[in-house]
Amino acid sequence: MSKVLVIGAGGVSSVCVHKMAMNAGIFSEIHLASRTKSKCDSIAASVKERTGVTVSTYEIDAEEVPALTRLIQQIGPKLVVNLALPYQDLPIMDACLAAGVDYLDTANYEPKDEAKFEYKWQWAYQDRFKEKGLMALLGSGFDPGVTSVFAMWLKKHKLKTIRTLDILDCNGGDHGQAFATNFNPEINIREVTAPARHWNQGEWVETPAMTIRQNFDFEAVGPKNMYLMYHEELESLAKFLPELERGRFWMTFGDAYINHLTVLQNVGMTGIEPILYQGKEIVPLQFLAAVLPKPETLGPTTTGKTNIGDIATGMALDGSGEKTYYIYNICDHEEAFHETGNQAISYTTGVPAMIGAAMMLTGTWRGEGVFNMEQMDPDPYMDMLNTQGLPWQVKELAGPLDF
Ligand code: NDP
Repeated sequence: MSKVLVIGAGGVSSVCVHKMAMNAGIFSEIHLASRTKSKCDSIAASVKERTGVTVSTYEIDAEEVPALTRLIQQIGPKLVVNLALPYQDLPIMDACLAAGVDYLDTANYEPKDEAKFEYKWQWAYQDRFKEKGLMALLGSGFDPGVTSVFAMWLKKHKLKTIRTLDILDCNGGDHGQAFATNFNPEINIREVTAPARHWNQGEWVETPAMTIRQNFDFEAVGPKNMYLMYHEELESLAKFLPELERGRFWMTFGDAYINHLTVLQNVGMTGIEPILYQGKEIVPLQFLAAVLPKPETLGPTTTGKTNIGDIATGMALDGSGEKTYYIYNICDHEEAFHETGNQAISYTTGVPAMIGAAMMLTGTWRGEGVFNMEQMDPDPYMDMLNTQGLPWQVKELAGPLDF
């Protein structure tokens, strides 16, 4: 029975708060704060209608550390769940330290003026959290999050070592819009326009964004083009799987998405440097994000499924030589919408955020300092994925990907 404070009121937060309310035995009191209080209020109204649970709401700018610290002290939660944007990670961690409360997020810190997400800024908080006896858990979404837990489950139950790892993120959903992103447009476009990077023989190999493409036949979706990208869990996986020879991340994109993005990039709309417009400084990407459809409005029209998982190859635990396993979850956009009022991209992130929070609040996962998902026992988390709406499957493949 624990009190939790969630920060941010977008699609991911909406799913997470609904799922917390559905697990009232763990989350006895839910508080929700964000920059725009009306968004918190509409999540709270939906939660009340669907579950009968009351969620208390507040307005806060999470970048104002003293005000956030005061709010945390006033509420007195056992855990702060950060579902705002990556820019707010460090101020929220600072406020948690000042108020003496544990911390969890789903995406690593990224400075606003530099499209470069890395764990180094948050790993630097290790000593401060440890000294205060507090725990910070980083990246408890699907990717990062479940994809790391999947890898560690394979390492615990199937493979002694993981030699190669491919993470495959497929969204086979159709939202009926000409161009829209499935989560925060600014963060999404910064991610996909960044150079691709993969881990190979102990070093990072960089290639231009969206230039390496392969076709893969995804169960429940069908064949899709997927593109090599950099994704933040590659950094923590390379650290916590020291034997890893090659680690790659692939994401599917349709031709229409690529065409729109190419045009937007070519005309400068994805830039993050401020420009002067009618005497006012604006950031082109922020303006673009403001005119694109809001991800939380895509739920009612999105159909189809997501299929996200890991293909790992390494020496089998039972001594039977090298083996390859594919472990994945399939999530249905319409079912996700029916349950919480949000599409599957928000669902596949919000449910793991709730599970990470449950792991911490029940003491199942405990530590002092800053932790990545790879450092925790995968089993209880994997059990909750099965019971909380994201069931997973594992199967043996004939060998690693042949590209
Ligand atoms: P949204 O943009 O829908 O929601 C973000 C929320 O944060 C909004 O309510 C926004 O407020 C609020 N916010 C922004 N700035 C501040 C601030 N300074 N103070 C307080 N609140 C603020 O994003 P999503 O729900 O799609 O994504 C949430 C997080 O989840 C992001 O960090 C994203 O990177 C991460 N994510 C992780 C994934 C994973 O698998 N690990 C996958 C998808 C997303 P306002 O309404 O006023 O704009």
